[in-house]
Amino acid sequence: MTLKQNIPLKAFNSFACDINAKYFTTIQSNQDIEVAFDWFKQNNTPYLVLGSGSNILFTKEVEALVLKMEIKGIQKTNETASAVYLSVGAGENWHHFVSYCVQKGWGGIENLSLIPGTVGAAPIQNIGAYGVEVKETIEKITAFDTHTGEWVTLNKLDCDFGYRNSLFKKEKNRYIISKVDFCLQKQPKLRTDYGAIREVLHQKEIQNPSLEDISNAVVLIRTQKLPDPKKLGNAGSFFKNPTISKSQFETLKIKNDDIMAFPISDTEYKLAAGWLIEHCGWKGVKKGHIGCFEKQALVIVNYGNGTGKEILAFSEEIIQSVFQKFGVLLEKEVNVY
Ligand code: FAD
Ligand code: NAP
Repeated sequence: MTLKQNIPLKAFNSFACDINAKYFTTIQSNQDIEVAFDWFKQNNTPYLVLGSGSNILFTKEVEALVLKMEIKGIQKTNETASAVYLSVGAGENWHHFVSYCVQKGWGGIENLSLIPGTVGAAPIQNIGAYGVEVKETIEKITAFDTHTGEWVTLNKLDCDFGYRNSLFKKEKNRYIISKVDFCLQKQPKLRTDYGAIREVLHQKEIQNPSLEDISNAVVLIRTQKLPDPKKLGNAGSFFKNPTISKSQFETLKIKNDDIMAFPISDTEYKLAAGWLIEHCGWKGVKKGHIGCFEKQALVIVNYGNGTGKEILAFSEEIIQSVFQKFGVLLEKEVNVY
């Protein structure tokens, strides 16, 4: 194991927070994980797995061993008339994997195009976009259980996936994911239920879209609407969309006729957190180095040398104002360290 000390993490987190890791190593194999485990046990030091750092907010120095996940490889493990089974290293770039599948004509994850990050982090919050969640295509996960020191294979049910949630978020810092196995479809059912995708296909006069058309549409929409972390620090949506009861929704609807909400069951509604934040007047607001993105209020941006603490304080102000105006408590989606 090549152990480095006092490594700046600014280039390894999409908010570009300028903090250091006390210890840092890269992980290229399962054996690297075992060696790192022995080291942090012997040295009584905590650890933190880091993918691309696109869903993490560093608010303090990292007094831990950072394991930068770099296990690569996409392997076909099985194929039937209708499906393809793939085993993918946790350090593969997510969008690279999506593009590979789209190019091969294997469907199921095309709506998740251009989500930053690694394959190994995708199950952590069960990444989702445009009506698709990654759990739909996951077969099993190979992970190192740091509580027992054993390798485990977890199937979809074990992973306890939910909306932007999973076993890995609930049992924080227990599992180190090294490999994710997917099942993709050769004749996929394409998902165009989200208005933005339909609009692009309509504009381009595409009536029978291919996987590539869907992927291209998502890439176009995202490029136009979201800040590029390479140019403007951010971690995508800072908050989850809140779920409220039907009766609370009906009360809110009386005063806010145009409230953006979607029924998710007979008794519950999902509210668009971005709508709530925008209607509290935050969209485009800038305070010092930190701001609420002008094209999507759900995204908090770091305009320069903002610190994690400043970003956190800004997010708390948003939470308070949404609660005061609508009585709805926003929950952070980003992992705060
Ligand atoms: P990191 O930020 O490095 O890590 C996230 C968490 O997972 C940390 O707690 C980390 O410890 C843990 N972790 C990472 N890898 C492993 C591993 N191998 N084993 C165990 N734990 C691990 N998310 C969506 O769901 N949908 C979107 O549409 C979306 N759009 C985004 C757009 C932008 C512009 C940005 C910046 C972010 C967006 N995100 C979105 C959030 C982010 O891209 C995803 O959460 C992504 O999966 C994070 O991957 P990462 O490798 O950067 O994870
Ligand atoms: P949008 O289209 O402006 O819609 C706002 C919200 O309404 C979304 O969060 C979405 O919920 C919900 N929504 C819209 N159409 C819907 C439909 N037909 N059925 C059910 N719910 C619907 O959202 P956006 O900000 O441009 O994002 C587009 C997609 O990319 C969303 O799915 C969003 O989750 C995803 N995204 C996620 C992140 C992240 O960091 N997590 C960042 C950027 C974009 P859902 O979020 O539940 O889909």
